[in-house]
Amino acid sequence: MSKKHFQTEVSKLLHLIIHSLYSHKEIFLRELVSNASDALDKLKFLNLTDEKYKSLKFDPRIDISFNFTEKTLSISDNGIGMNEQDLDENLGTIARSGTRNFVEKMTGDAKKDSNLIGQFGVGFYSAFMVADKVEVISKKAGEDSAWKWVSDGKEEYTIEPAERDSHGTTVTVHLNREGEEYANRWTIQSIIRKYSNHVPFPIYLHYEEIKYEGEGDNKKEIREPKVEQINSASAIWKRPKSELKEEDYLEFYRQISYDLEDPLLYIHTQAEGTLDYTTLFYIPAKAPMDLFRVDYQAGVKLYIKRVFITDDSKELMPTYLRFVRGIIDSEDLPLNVSREILQQNKVMAKIKSSSVKKILSELESLKNRDRFKYNIFWKEFGIPMKEGLYQDFENREKLLELVQYKSTKAEDYTTLSEYVDRMKPEQSAIYYITGGKEQLLRNSPLLEIYKEKDIEVLILDDEIDEIVISTVPKYKDYELKSVNRTDSEDDLKNNEDKEKEKKIEPLINKIKEQLGDRVKNVLASTRLSSSPSCIVADENDPTAQMQTILKMMGQSGLPEFKPVLLINPEHEIIKKLENTTDDSLINDVSLLLLEQAMLVEGLELKDPNGFVARLNRITSKAL
Ligand code: ADP
Repeated sequence: MSKKHFQTEVSKLLHLIIHSLYSHKEIFLRELVSNASDALDKLKFLNLTDEKYKSLKFDPRIDISFNFTEKTLSISDNGIGMNEQDLDENLGTIARSGTRNFVEKMTGDAKKDSNLIGQFGVGFYSAFMVADKVEVISKKAGEDSAWKWVSDGKEEYTIEPAERDSHGTTVTVHLNREGEEYANRWTIQSIIRKYSNHVPFPIYLHYEEIKYEGEGDNKKEIREPKVEQINSASAIWKRPKSELKEEDYLEFYRQISYDLEDPLLYIHTQAEGTLDYTTLFYIPAKAPMDLFRVDYQAGVKLYIKRVFITDDSKELMPTYLRFVRGIIDSEDLPLNVSREILQQNKVMAKIKSSSVKKILSELESLKNRDRFKYNIFWKEFGIPMKEGLYQDFENREKLLELVQYKSTKAEDYTTLSEYVDRMKPEQSAIYYITGGKEQLLRNSPLLEIYKEKDIEVLILDDEIDEIVISTVPKYKDYELKSVNRTDSEDDLKNNEDKEKEKKIEPLINKIKEQLGDRVKNVLASTRLSSSPSCIVADENDPTAQMQTILKMMGQSGLPEFKPVLLINPEHEIIKKLENTTDDSLINDVSLLLLEQAMLVEGLELKDPNGFVARLNRITSKAL
C-alpha cells in the first residue's frame, strides 16, 4: 500500500469546497454521476471506434446503492475505469488547467470564492462535504488488475491493489453526520431528477422494500431488494420540441453548465434535409469568469449520433460567441473525426455557420420582444459581441443590428437603427465619441457643437470600441464619424462659421508658432461654444486614447501622438487675445489653451510645473 500527500492545490481546493459550497452540498451526487457518465462516454466511444475495444460487450449503466445502517452511498459505473497511475493523477493532483486557474483566483474570502466555484465543475472532491472517508475501487477497461484509492479528504490518500469483476469504477462515500440524509431512497431520487435526469445512460437505484408478514408476536419484517431506473436517460435534444417543457431545458442547462442561475435564453433547432443535425444552445444570464482569458473553456459540446465526442473544441463556435453553452449533435460526421478534420470539415462548417445565424437571429428577436432582458444580455456580453464586428464579416449586417451604444439622447442604450430614426433630415453621418469613461466623454468640449445643433452622438466608452469601430466605415448608407477627428464637423458648418474661422487667422499663426512641434496643427473652429479650445486627432491619425491602448498592447516605436488644437473664435478669451500686443502673455495663454484641452481629455501633461507657473503668472496679473 502506498501512502501519498495531496498536491497543495488539492488541499486548498478541498478546504474551499467543504466550507463554501456547504449550502449546496447535494451537488456532490451530481458531480459523481457526471464523472460516471463521462467514463461511460469515453468507453462507448472507444467501443465504437477502436479495434482494441470493439469486442468488448458493453451495456453502459450507472448504479446507485446505499446502506442507512452503515451510512454509505455508492455510485458505480462500468465505464473506462482507472489504473493505479490514473487514480494517482486524477484524484491526487489538479490535472485540469481550468481548476488550476480557479485555485489561483481564490481569494480566501469564502463568500467571493463560493461565487467563483458556482461557475466551475467542482468535481470529485465535493464528496468530502458529506463524507468522513471516500473509497474508490476501479479497474481500467482492457487491463487485469483493480485498484483501491482511499482518503479522508484531509492531507493524505492511499492506493493499493483490490478486487473488482468488470471494468469501471465504484465510488463509496462513507457519510458523515451532515451527510446521513443522503442514505435515503427519496432524497437520492429527487436529486438525480433535479440534476441528472438527462444523463444519457440509465441510472438504477438499488433499495430494499420493507414488508411485514404475520400478526402479533409472529409479525416479521421482510426486506425485499429492488432496482429501479430513476432518470429518463434520453438525449433531451433529440426529443420532439412539443414534448419538452421549460423545466426540461433548465434542468439540462444545470447539468451541462454548472451555472446556479437559469439561462437568459435557449435555442433548440432540429434540422433535417441536406444535413441532419440538432443543436441546443443556451445564453447564460451571467458572463463566465474566464470570458476574457485566452484559455477560456469552450461551452459547446459536440456529439455525433448521440455519442459524445468533445467538449473542448473551440472550433464549434466563433470566438466572439464563446459564452454560448450547449450541444451540437450531427448525424453526418464520422465518429472518429479528429480535431484537424473538424477544422476543415464542410459539414461542420455548415452546421457552425447556420448555428451562428440562428443564434444571432434569436438575439435579434429577443431585442425586439424584450428589451429589458436584451439589455441584461448586452451588459454581460456586449464586449464579445462587438468583437464579432471585426471577426465575422459574413454576419456583419446582422451584428450591426445587434450592437448597442450609450448615447447623448438615449437613456439606456441605442441601436444604430434607432439612432438613424432620430437623425435630422439634413444629417448624413452617424457621430460617435471615444476615449475614456462615460462621464468624461459626456462632458467633453468636443460635443459642444453637436449639443448646440441638437445632433445625437454615440458614447463609445468600452476600451475595445475605438479599435472595433474604426473597422466599420458605414451603417447602411450612413458614414460613421468620430467627433475626435478634425474633419468630423465640416458638414455641420455654414458660410458664416467659415468666415469667423478665417477672421482669426493671424492669431492662429501666432499660437502655432509658440506651440511649435507640440502640436500637429492649430485651427480655428466654430464647433466649440463654451470652451476656448480642444484637441482632436488629425484625419488619419490614431486618437490619443488609441495610442495609449496600442502602447499598452506592447506596440513600440510609434511616432509620438501630436494633437490638432482647435481654437474657438467666438470665445471671450480668444477675442481678448486677438487684441493683445503683450507677447509674453500670448505665449503663456497659447500653452494654457493646449494644456487645458489635454486635461479635459484625461491626458497627462508633460510639464505640470510649467503649467502651474503659467497659471500663477496669469492669475496674479488678473488680481
Ligand atoms: P472532472 O471530472 O471535472 O475532470 P473531477 O475532479 O470530478 O474533475 O475528476 C477528476 C478526474 O478523475 C476526471 O477527469 C477523470 O479522469 C477521473 N475520474 C473521476 N471519476 C471517474 C470515474 N467514475 N471513472 C473514470 N474516471 C474518473
